[in-house]
Amino acid sequence: MIHRFKPRLLTLSLMLGLLSFGSGCGPRGETIPQKVVQAVNPDHFVEESLVEPIRKEMRTLSDGSQAECYVITTKAVPPDHPLGPWAPKHVTDGEDKGGIWIKDGHVYNVSGEFVAHLDELYDDPEWNLVREDGSIKVTDTEEAFNLAARPNVDPRYENYAVECPPDVVEWKSYHNVYVIPVSPVYRSVTTDFHRVGDGHSPVGVAFNGVKYDPPAPIHMIIKAHTIAPFDHSGGHVNPHAGYHYHAATGKTKEIEQSDGHSPLIGYALDGFGIYAHLDTVGKEPEGLDECSGHYDDVRGYHYHAGAAGDNQIIGAFRGIAGSAEIVKPK
Ligand SMILES: [Zn+2]
Ligand SMILES: [Zn+2]
Repeated sequence: MIHRFKPRLLTLSLMLGLLSFGSGCGPRGETIPQKVVQAVNPDHFVEESLVEPIRKEMRTLSDGSQAECYVITTKAVPPDHPLGPWAPKHVTDGEDKGGIWIKDGHVYNVSGEFVAHLDELYDDPEWNLVREDGSIKVTDTEEAFNLAARPNVDPRYENYAVECPPDVVEWKSYHNVYVIPVSPVYRSVTTDFHRVGDGHSPVGVAFNGVKYDPPAPIHMIIKAHTIAPFDHSGGHVNPHAGYHYHAATGKTKEIEQSDGHSPLIGYALDGFGIYAHLDTVGKEPEGLDECSGHYDDVRGYHYHAGAAGDNQIIGAFRGIAGSAEIVKPK
């Protein structure tokens, strides 16, 4: 049986409401009933990451429909792993002083040596992040970080390694509020999140409350001869979005699966589970759709995070997304 969505007349206020939801208004589609549907399990979230207990409420989803949702409010800083390091400060700094950078599916450890050879990696002699004295140009003030950590990098901060200086702490007091439908629905159409907003609306959440973000705009970043390394947990800080992941590197809470399938590592905003890339014997998932998901009789439809070098957690939403926002506590 197929449930057809009734066409809706969108009032202006409803449309404005949708715009603020970030995940946007997808094409009209049908809900296709699934034999197995795994509901979101709120017990998987790391308790220390929660600002308040997870609530169940009727909420409006990104397509304007109402659904029972979990409202999950988390701290900006994960309780289970350190943040950084991101950029080495000197050409002699080893791999332990930096995070990771990705290119064409490869993951590179960002050492001083790596930074010194970006001209070779990109076959472009204009890369030059190392000063005469061997120090590396890293954004070390709030102003520098704000001017460099944006799509149109300020020309003064071309040829910089971009990272959030430790004294920029305001974002640490923010909370992430996720609204995720309790029971995900499989739709005949997918919703692309890349074209919505500034590209920083998350696609999902890890069990430690950290956002899984859409792909980092790497081509824009390197166009200005900048790199914005991720730490070894796959995350970095944006002045507006706070700390977020662009890669799942196995450093966060995982829910093991008894059948050898890769572990559950979080939820997408549409309520479908996100599982790690590789299963317990190191095999890649098969038959993924354009959303990076597939179906099995144990988990129902679910996503697999891309490999760390892919710059993609999931490809698009298969279900109807809830929302995520950053709130500044009063
Ligand atoms: Zn980012
Ligand atoms: Zn799977």
